[in-house]
Amino acid sequence: MSQAVDPPLPWHAELWQRVQARRRSDQLPHALLLCGVAGLGKLRFANALAHSLVCAQPDAQGSACGTCSPCRLFLAGSHPDISRVLPEDEGKSISIEQIRALREFNALSSYGGGHKIVVIEPAERMTMAAANALLKTLEEPVGKTLMMLVTTRPGSLPATVRSRCQRLDFAVPTRTAGAAWLQQHLEACTAQDAATLLALAQGAPLRALQLQQDGALEQRAKLLADLRDVALGKSDPVAVAERWHKAGMKQAWLWISSCVNDMLRLKFDAAPSLLNNIDVAPLLDELARKADVQALFRWSDRVKQAQQEADVPLNQQMVLEDVLIAWERQFVTVREASRPTP
Ligand SMILES: [Zn+2]
Repeated sequence: MSQAVDPPLPWHAELWQRVQARRRSDQLPHALLLCGVAGLGKLRFANALAHSLVCAQPDAQGSACGTCSPCRLFLAGSHPDISRVLPEDEGKSISIEQIRALREFNALSSYGGGHKIVVIEPAERMTMAAANALLKTLEEPVGKTLMMLVTTRPGSLPATVRSRCQRLDFAVPTRTAGAAWLQQHLEACTAQDAATLLALAQGAPLRALQLQQDGALEQRAKLLADLRDVALGKSDPVAVAERWHKAGMKQAWLWISSCVNDMLRLKFDAAPSLLNNIDVAPLLDELARKADVQALFRWSDRVKQAQQEADVPLNQQMVLEDVLIAWERQFVTVREASRPTP
């Protein structure tokens, strides 16, 4: 049974020790705000802490045993002292009703005699009314409660809510530590693949792992081949946009943005170690050499705009067409200039 307890992530060690020291001296705050980019395992940390707090016999580091009766309830997802608040449907908000229900939960006496724990994730999805309702709960904590708010965007929570929580900042591990962890968890992952995946995931190892499982590197290779063919006039930008749109290339903007940034770095003779897509550097270099630097900057701005437009109700195929036509145009003059004169 104990194998069901996830091992701690190496980059959590310091935060974990700090929180456990406070727990041992009975100084845990009523509310914690867990902040950091996506893919650092903040929710996993919150779950491990909740698990640790209900366990009857945690080990010396504070980790849950996984075998005692409260641990079994926890692992079955039915420990009565734990409440999880998440959007009821994907993409939806956390409603005021969900937050109001916490008052009843908090008012009940603790089943195990210890903490009552609430995990809200992602906290930034609370509506303004929900956040205000939560503020009341945070201002008047009942008994031994621990509220954990997990967020990638703490700035979108009201300052009044933030100021009632003790903040835990999850830092991105060093490149070496992140790559070592990733290689341990991926079969046949080269050091170069690990470095590329981490760069694309803003250094967050769990996100990098997810990207690899979603076939990110293969998708990016296809996307780059298309960009090259459009630049060389071998593919029609409208047809490529249609294909990308049909394939539901959700990551398209992320890759394009990352690649165009590398092309700009290459334009300014950046060292290879500064590139995010080092594995495809020769292709990016070939494209960068054909492009005009000003046009490339303008195109980079257009890509950023399109990236922001990805969440608004616009015709995404048309946005892709627009960006790809702009991409093709910047190479037209270069192609015509290099054509041999008859
Ligand atoms: Zn236990």
